[in-house]
Amino acid sequence: MKSLRYRAAEQVEVVETAKPEIGPGEVLIKVAYAGVCGSDMIIYRGIHSRAKAPLIMGHEFSGVIESGHGTLPPGTPVTVYPLLSCGRCQPCRSGYAHVCDTLGLIGIDRDGGMAEYVKVPEEKIVPLPPGFPLKLGAFIEPVAVGVHAVSRSRYRPGDSAVVYGAGPIGLCVAGCLSYFGASRVIVIEANPHRLDVARQMGFTTIDAAREDVRAGVREHTQGRNADLAFDCAAHPSVQDTILDILRVQGTGIVVGSYKKPAEVDLIKIEFKELTLVGIRVYEWRDFETATAILRSGRVDFERLLSVAAPEEAPRQFARLLAGDTDAIKLLFKLGE
Ligand SMILES: [Zn+2]
Ligand SMILES: [Zn+2]
Repeated sequence: MKSLRYRAAEQVEVVETAKPEIGPGEVLIKVAYAGVCGSDMIIYRGIHSRAKAPLIMGHEFSGVIESGHGTLPPGTPVTVYPLLSCGRCQPCRSGYAHVCDTLGLIGIDRDGGMAEYVKVPEEKIVPLPPGFPLKLGAFIEPVAVGVHAVSRSRYRPGDSAVVYGAGPIGLCVAGCLSYFGASRVIVIEANPHRLDVARQMGFTTIDAAREDVRAGVREHTQGRNADLAFDCAAHPSVQDTILDILRVQGTGIVVGSYKKPAEVDLIKIEFKELTLVGIRVYEWRDFETATAILRSGRVDFERLLSVAAPEEAPRQFARLLAGDTDAIKLLFKLGE
């Protein structure tokens, strides 16, 4: 079968590999679409702490069941809940398997969906609703991150929110906020193309390269500042303003992953009685909600998806790394 394989730092190859053989409790999926995530780019750069070459990446994918499922027949359209939790550690036993002490992912800690076929444990299979497009099926996972971020923020209907970063996760968070009825969603970004996409999706935008972020947020919230601020950029510059653009007792949510410790001015948290919340991936029910949001068609997430042929992978990964692309979420079309 054709596979996109991470070979070494900044090298992805399109190779023939053996079709996976399934054992008891495993399901073989014929992959349709597989998305490239920020964490795949960390792997591609050769700096991921766990991923080891050679590895077939891909934890955001859709396809149809080929064989091995106990109840679902071959041909059933599915996506996959990619988290691998141990089931034995304290977080797992307390109902927080998504923050398992040794959390792993299909596509990072074992071969994933950037191939014609992938095998996964049967309990990770998520059937898609009837008529649900396979292309959107590969985007349930990122939307689930957005759902999880909004639910952890203790969002209340009508809240105003700032989202730092208009990459796939920032726009998923912003899209979920508007789906849940936020009164105002303000997206802060410096990249002109991404600002444009955010605007086309109906969000208020602030150009971080040209505008005063503090003044902009105040203006768009009638002087009140934001109830919530989601850091999906994980860029050091976010710390300059995030605690200032929140109202008293507002909440900041750390969604993006910082590669280096960020400097946080704790006195602002104290004086404004702010709350900081961390989020990590998602839980099962976030997958269900994400599927419902995508199915509703009320947020134009399709606009974020660009599709490429698997043969283009070496060039596409290089372009993503260089920032030389308009693609927000790149999907490889492996089948369908
Ligand atoms: Zn991802
Ligand atoms: Zn565990």
